[in-house]
Amino acid sequence: MIYADNAATTKMSQSAVDAVLRCMKENWGNPSSLYEHGQKAREALEDARERMAACLGCTPRELYFTSGGSEADNQAIRSAASLGARKGKKHIISTAFEHHAVLHTLERLKKEGFEITLLDVHSDGIVTPEQVADAIREDTCLVTVMYANNEIGTVEPISEIGAVCREKGVLFHTDAVQAAGHLPISIRDQNIDLLSLSAHKFHGPKGIGALFARKGVLLEPLINGGAQERGKRAGTENVPAIAGMAAALEDACRSLDENRIRVSAMRDRLIEGLDRIPYGELNGSRDSRLPGNVNFCFEGIEGESLLLLLDDKGICASSGSACTSGSLDPSHVLLAIGRPHEVAHGSLRLSISEETTPEEVETIIRAVGETVTYLRNMSPFWRDLMSGKRRHVLKA
Ligand SMILES: *Cc1c(COP(=O)(O)O)cnc(C)c1O
Repeated sequence: MIYADNAATTKMSQSAVDAVLRCMKENWGNPSSLYEHGQKAREALEDARERMAACLGCTPRELYFTSGGSEADNQAIRSAASLGARKGKKHIISTAFEHHAVLHTLERLKKEGFEITLLDVHSDGIVTPEQVADAIREDTCLVTVMYANNEIGTVEPISEIGAVCREKGVLFHTDAVQAAGHLPISIRDQNIDLLSLSAHKFHGPKGIGALFARKGVLLEPLINGGAQERGKRAGTENVPAIAGMAAALEDACRSLDENRIRVSAMRDRLIEGLDRIPYGELNGSRDSRLPGNVNFCFEGIEGESLLLLLDDKGICASSGSACTSGSLDPSHVLLAIGRPHEVAHGSLRLSISEETTPEEVETIIRAVGETVTYLRNMSPFWRDLMSGKRRHVLKA
């Protein structure tokens, strides 16, 4: 099997598995208990927090553990909205191509009386600081722009957007779920007030993540109960998963530069190989792009059929995001960068990692080429394109 769906989830690293198991065997106490066994679990919890803070460039007290990226996004946005509402500021700025954890939270807030501006994304998948500056108003309480897009892999100018927000006194949240462990993060230097991350996107366990909230930014609990996480997130902490997340993040940060160089070289080879397929085009900027992300549109293809045939050849890939695969709506991300419906349906996302080999990349290039040709030969839509009955949207 060739695994090329690391944007959906990653395989846990050996050190993350070891950390989880060790914690399950040795530190299974409740961190809130006062006897020694509980206190050992407390130490493991706080040790994980300190190590993660060191990787991210913040203080341990600014990190709150959550059940993952979705919860962190929800809590960050809801907290900033509540703070804003108290001052009569009920305008929020985001982008049209955020993850649904952000977009659906914003839809809910809209029903609750907030005004939401979703910035257009340029055809290269980038949102500019100027767009953000132009959209900020007197009553804007939050700007939320993702660090890197989960479908097309484009990397946004987060530090510059953060600087604009800081200058105008507006809170800035970034969904860094795709970036954490893959791109350098230095929260303090990047003008970030709130940041979400999720362990299973960087070879850690699923169901665990973290929310950074800058000192002075008051979080509102989504889950009420005990006083865990300094009263901001009730519920007994998942200490083994947290220990696994810290181990995975440390690994990722330690090897970040090395992995980035190796993986992006394979990514570029993949792009080069797939670019030879006629009437296909890379989605999103070639340069400002996650090291492991390749996303193409192919005319005359159904993404779902392509995936099934690649699966037959032992290749795991994705079309659109995992959350929408199975639905017939084309990806909101591809529509946001201006791809027409019929082309947006024919997309393929390959997300590789440092575990991918150059041989696997060659196999993928061959398999995608063969499969696209095979599907096009059966497609009435493609026949219309070739006979000139329909106009091509992409270049040959
Ligand atoms: C995966 C992902 C999420 C959701 O994270 P979970 O831990 O799966 O809830 C949010 N945002 C982005 C950009 C993602 O890729």
